[in-house]
Parts: sequence; C-alpha cells; structure tokens
Amino acid sequence: MDEPALIYDLHCHSTCSDGILSPSELVSRAKSKGVDVLALTDHDSIAGLAEARVAAQACGLDLINGIEFSCQWGSRGVHVVGLGLNVDSPELLAVIEGQAQRRAERNEVIAKKLAKAGFPGALEGVKKLATEAAIGRPHFAQFLVDQGHVKSSNQAFKKYLGAGKIGDVKNIWPDLDEVIDWIHAGGGQAVLAHPNKYKLTRTKLRALCADFAEYGGVAIEVVSGKQAPGVAEDMVRIASEFGLLASCGSDFHQPDPWQELGSSSRLPPGSDPVWKDWNIQRPTVNVELGV
Ligand code: AMP
Ligand code: MN
Ligand code: MN
Ligand code: MN
Repeated sequence: MDEPALIYDLHCHSTCSDGILSPSELVSRAKSKGVDVLALTDHDSIAGLAEARVAAQACGLDLINGIEFSCQWGSRGVHVVGLGLNVDSPELLAVIEGQAQRRAERNEVIAKKLAKAGFPGALEGVKKLATEAAIGRPHFAQFLVDQGHVKSSNQAFKKYLGAGKIGDVKNIWPDLDEVIDWIHAGGGQAVLAHPNKYKLTRTKLRALCADFAEYGGVAIEVVSGKQAPGVAEDMVRIASEFGLLASCGSDFHQPDPWQELGSSSRLPPGSDPVWKDWNIQRPTVNVELGV
C-alpha cells in the first residue's frame, strides 16, 4: 500500500511577529492537526525558530527554518518567504536587523498619523502589546480595538491601516531582487507568498512572476490560506509558465478567521513541489519494539 503523502505547511506566524501562539504552541498545534513538515515564517524575524526547533524535535515534526520578508515590487508591497535558511548566517542576521530598523521607523510614522487622526499613544501601546515581536500593523489594529476606537481588527484595517489608508506607510521596504539575494545569502529558497492576494491584473501578476523568476526565486505559493476554488490550478499554470515550483501554506496567525494549520496542503495534480529535492522522510516506526 502507498504511504500517505506528507502534510506540508510552509507558511505560518507566531508571537514573534503577528501570530497569537508562541513558537512551541504553534508546533504542538501543527502536530495535532497532522502537519509533518512545518515552516515557521514570521514577518522579518527568525526569533522564534530556536524555540520551535526544540518543540519540533520533542514531538517528531520536521521544522524548516523560514521567514516572510516584506519588500517592494515597484510601488507595491510584496511578501517573499525564505525557506531552509541557515540561521547562523551573519549576512542574514544583518539584513534582519535592517528590517527591524525599518519597522521601528515605520511604527513612529504610523503612530504620528494615528495621533493626528485623534488616537494618541499608539507607539507606547503597540510596544506593550508586542514585547519581543516584530511590530506590524496588526498590533496597531489591536491597539485601536483595545482603546475602543474600532470594533474589530478588520474594521481597523478598513478605516485606518489597510491599503490607501493613513496607516499604510509605503516605500520603506527593500526591492524584491534585494530580498531574494538576502535569502540566497542565507542559504535558503525564495518563495513568492500568496501571489493571488495582491489584487493584480493578470498582466501584472505575470510580470511579477517573470521578475521573481529572473531574480532567482524558485517557487510561488499556489495554495495560501483560504482561497476560492480553481485558484490553485490557475497558480500552477502561472508557476509552470515561468519555470517556478509550487509551495503551500496556511498563513496561520490564529484560529478563525485564519486558515487552520495544515489545511492548505493539497497541491493540485501536475504541481512540481518546492520540496521535491528536500529528501524528507516520514519518521520510521520500529515495529518490533513497538515504538
Ligand atoms: P505589516 O507586516 O505591518 O505590513 O502588516 C501586515 C499584516 O497585517 C499581514 O501579514 C496580516 O497579518 C495583517 N493584515 C493585513 N490586512 C489585514 C486585514 N484587512 N485585516 C486583518 N489583518 C490584516
Ligand atoms: Mn501577518
Ligand atoms: Mn504575507
Ligand atoms: Mn504570512
């Protein structure tokens, strides 16, 4: 009988960025949802990987060292996942520090804009909320909810933080090619995150994938979080057009409304998976000893 396929979830977040579970809680939850291979991909941070690795070894789950870098393609914000990173790479540590500084500067600008709009104290507020995390707009959203200025995080994005709103501070991130180079310097593979979520026309999406492939990106997420029927198949067509492999991930941040860990793992037939050369084996069970 064929072995059941391994379950891959190559995109998720912990409290080291904007997720609500600690790295070890995240690993335990992934294991309980049937995930065999998990990449922790916090926004611009690898701070959670050491704790996640200890938890993964304890429960028998394969952990891939990951990150989700913020960058720009022209004037558009784009996310690139790095997989299989060498977390001791000095180059990688240096660029992550650079991203932290960019975030710190952006946070000040966002807080000033929110103060002007009548919501003072946001910078202090998000620092309290995030403690060790890479602070991002979700923390500002939480601050606005906690202060009673909006009913939900979703409303905070709609009114103040989402695309085109006052808290959507642009042009602070490095260019796409630079971030792909960083991932290569850190020994990893670059994967274009959630290509279907950028609201690009077909022409623009193809141009993005063409540039991504030209700069040395290897895969796109053909399955990412919740997506409509047919999208994955469509993304596979685009991937193969540009010689890119297929990746998948839940982009889990917290239970509901985000997709559950492990439930965005089915690649459509004909996909060429990003893990094809990883040589990951299902942990063998010693039948004689019954362990
Ligand atoms: P940042 O890294 O600061 O640019 O924040 C981006 C993050 O905000 C994403 O990774 C999501 O977790 C979250 N986000 C973006 N748009 C929304 C939205 N409309 N509602 C809730 N969360 C969102
Ligand atoms: Mn996020
Ligand atoms: Mn993203
Ligand atoms: Mn993400």
